[in-house]
Amino acid sequence: MPIPSVRADADACPGALRLHAAADGPLARVRVPGGRLTGAQLTVVRELATRWGDGHVELTSRANLQLRALKDAPVEDLAANLRGAGLLPSETHELVRNIVASPLAEGLPVGPLDQALCADPSLAELPGRFLFALDSGAGDVAFGADVAALPLDDEVAIIFAGSDAGLRVAPAEVVPALLAAAHAFLEERAAQQIPAKAHDRPADPPATVQQALHNARHPGRATDATQAALDERPGSAADAGQAAPDGRPGSATDNAQAMPERFSSATGALRAAGDQPLPLPGDRYDAGRRQRVAWRVRELTDGPARVAARTAATLGKALGEPVRRSRPGVREPIGIIEQPDGRVAVGALVPLGRLSDVQLKVLASAKALVFTPWRGVILPGLLPQAAESWVAALAGAGLEVAAGSRWAGVTACAGRPGCAKSLADVRADADAATVKGEGLPVHWVGCARGCGSPAGPHVRVEATGTGYEVRSPHARGVASVGEVGALVGAARKG
Ligand code: SF4
Repeated sequence: MPIPSVRADADACPGALRLHAAADGPLARVRVPGGRLTGAQLTVVRELATRWGDGHVELTSRANLQLRALKDAPVEDLAANLRGAGLLPSETHELVRNIVASPLAEGLPVGPLDQALCADPSLAELPGRFLFALDSGAGDVAFGADVAALPLDDEVAIIFAGSDAGLRVAPAEVVPALLAAAHAFLEERAAQQIPAKAHDRPADPPATVQQALHNARHPGRATDATQAALDERPGSAADAGQAAPDGRPGSATDNAQAMPERFSSATGALRAAGDQPLPLPGDRYDAGRRQRVAWRVRELTDGPARVAARTAATLGKALGEPVRRSRPGVREPIGIIEQPDGRVAVGALVPLGRLSDVQLKVLASAKALVFTPWRGVILPGLLPQAAESWVAALAGAGLEVAAGSRWAGVTACAGRPGCAKSLADVRADADAATVKGEGLPVHWVGCARGCGSPAGPHVRVEATGTGYEVRSPHARGVASVGEVGALVGAARKG
């Protein structure tokens, strides 16, 4: 039986059971909470990609996996294989298992949160883009999620759409607190009479009278949609450790030049990268936050404050004094990384988040893997003597394991030919234009939707049909395909 067509409701997020009709064929997204999976699980995904897809696996900005061009895949077989590998534990909740976690941290309650989420029938009603985050305390994932747990000394702050409302819980209370926050979101949304599952693609201009009316009631969203329409767009490892890639037991084993003039000062008021003060609940929703319109909590009127108050009431806690702290700059873990227990991890960048069959085969030989929200991969819990051979194996497969890679901080949406909305082959153009550089992350997109945009300040390179528009928190400009590389390089530096 062929895979059913795309879902017809407003919540357009693809899943493993409900596929998206991309231009290159049906697309499946496999949720991987925390980005954590085993080599055996990746083997199953690779086999599915080889058998029914285009042989590649894509990484998303939530560290999920995507299979493309599944033209003749029987949906029952696809689901059965994923279910058998433990990658489809719930059919009712598969679209809402959206959990990011600090990739290098061990001991985060990713599994318990996933299980508790799937065991709560009413939370199947969450929008497909509602995002939970479990942060190590480094702040690398907490501030781009709807609700997040951020350890602070002996207690844990529950963060709402990047805002600290002063809610603190004990470490053992993190999972119930995050679920309470999700319920509070649903209750607040119902109280504000926002239709369930609506507007999961908020960058779209209003397509119906109903949507326009809704936008009129929610000015923040209306502003985003209108701006888009007007083209005014900003932008455990076991004790033994993992085996070496050759599987040997023992050793490794077991285990634009003119850019400044061409940029306007229209975005100059936006804040600098890497040190952005976190918003407090009463802060105005400003342009700097527009890039996170995907926050479902943020779409509610006074969202973070109201959802925090409801959550605190459910937990029987009082809100304390919010803390304003700086948002840390995030760097992809790359190369050999020492871990606190004396083991090491090896981090690699996946150029433009697309894994080939050869790369998948190498990665699948690892015992455990962690995919990152920055479209990278980490092999954790390695014995130190295994690290070098892994580095060589990953590099040999074409993954980037050395600092200073030209792909550091560079991502792209699907673009042509995979996406019918795309105005350009953004991946090919990014490949041609990307040189080694430092500064802000760069995200290439084929249209105003801006799929997969990173959570923090970044340079957005958006196809216009004749070239690209480049926007950063500091500047903006346009360039032809041949000149855009220089513009991007200058924009990264601020
Ligand atoms: S940003 Fe536009 S072109 Fe890129 S994947 Fe999304 S809809 Fe397609």
